[in-house]
Parts: sequence; structure tokens; C-alpha cells
Amino acid sequence: MQHYFVNKVNNTFALTPGDVHHILHVMRAKSGDKVVFCHGGKQYEVELTISAEALTWKVVRELDIKRELDIEETLIVGLPRLEKFELVIQKATELGVTKIVPFLSSRSIIKLDPKKIGPKVERWNLIAKEAAEQSRRCVCPIVTNPIKEKDLVKYLSNTNILAYENSAEDEFVNLVKDAKGSITLLLGPEGGFSTEEVEHFEKLGFRQVSLGNRILRCETAAIFMASIVEVYHN
Ligand code: SAH
Repeated sequence: MQHYFVNKVNNTFALTPGDVHHILHVMRAKSGDKVVFCHGGKQYEVELTISAEALTWKVVRELDIKRELDIEETLIVGLPRLEKFELVIQKATELGVTKIVPFLSSRSIIKLDPKKIGPKVERWNLIAKEAAEQSRRCVCPIVTNPIKEKDLVKYLSNTNILAYENSAEDEFVNLVKDAKGSITLLLGPEGGFSTEEVEHFEKLGFRQVSLGNRILRCETAAIFMASIVEVYHN
């Protein structure tokens, strides 16, 4: 069944015009078809009624399916090229991440025009929404505005892990396994982090870890880290 994240207005579910279009013209739904509405971390099976004038629905039942991890997961990514970041948003969403934070690090090659940041963030959140619907999640992850180093402190969790390719620390899996409540994963862009940045992250409380003996591309590193969290906190 197709999933849609919906709002609530005056105590009834409300679809966006984009979702109405999707139901009517992409799914070509008919009266009696069922879809799932997601709201406030809950999922509801609803039956659609389609007439010439309107698309309406009635809630059949609340679904009792576990889709979310047992941990709040924040993924902070040193902003790579935009197509890579979009891939990270989609894959990390499928793997259960709660929040995705683009970080303008010293070696991020992408320079965002301040006027274009709003539309970019909107697009990133739409990618997250579509990936969350596709993977049947109950909660849609948030992609924040791009942040700078001084903002990192706002995104700290109970466990904070920095992926650093020059680290000899092989405790990544154990740190993930032992994490409780919330976890923040931080990784760099194509050019990695500078030593000054790594020192700063450690002062903030990030534990640096290796992800193995090979250097992974930033998008592979993000997917790998989120996959390990998914294994231990599914
Ligand atoms: N420019 C660097 C690699 C950067 S890879 C170089 O060529 O040496 C992009 C990011 O992925 C890194 O900043 C790091 O956060 C993560 N990463 C990739 N491979 C890793 C590894 N083996 N261990 C830890 N982190 C890794």
C-alpha cells in the first residue's frame, strides 16, 4: 500500500496538492483503494472515495507496525557534491536516520548561493519525504539548513562518533552497539576533514573511529555507518 505523510487540520487529515496529484494521476487510484496515511509517528489504513468533485477517505484502522529504530540518529555530513548528498539523504532515510545535517566544512567544495539555500533545503526534505514513504517509515526525517562549525554543539547526542580515515580506533561497532537513546554520526566531504577540525570535534566530545582499512567515498561511508546503526538498533 502506498504511504503518504499527511498533516492534520481541524482534527482531520489533510493531503498536500502534490500527494492528491500522486494519488489521482500517478497511482490512478479508484474508489475503494486503500493507502496508508502517516501522521505523528502513527500509520493509518484509509479507504479512498473518488468522485468527479473530490477525493475523500475514511480511516479503516490504525496499523501496528514497527518501522522506526530504537535510537534517535543524527547524521552530520560534511557537504559533498550535491548529487552525492542527495543520495545520502535517500539511503540514510531508508536506513532509519532521524535527522540529516549538511555541514559546511573547510574542504566542502560546494559553495551555496545564500539565495538558493531555501529551495535546496526544500528539495532535500522532499527527497527525504519520498524515501520515507517508499520505505514505509512512520517518521519523516528532517534535513536541516546547512550549518557551520559553531552550530555542531546543537546536534550532539548521548553517543557522538566521528569517522576519521586517519584513526586507528576500531571501536566503531562497539560504540554503536552500546549507544542508548541517541547517536550522532559525523563524516567528512570528498576531501575529508582538516586536523584542526578533527581536534575541534574531539573537544566537543566526538570519539574518532576508523571504518576499516580502505578509504570509503563519503556517500559509502554514510551508508555504511547508518547500516551498522540499523543492525544494532532495528
Ligand atoms: N580525502 C580523504 C578521504 C575522505 S573520504 C582521503 O582521500 O584520504 C570522506 C569521509 O568519509 C571522511 O572524511 C571520513 O569521514 C569518511 N571515511 C572514509 N573512509 C573512512 C575510513 N576508512 N575510516 C573512517 N572514516 C572514513
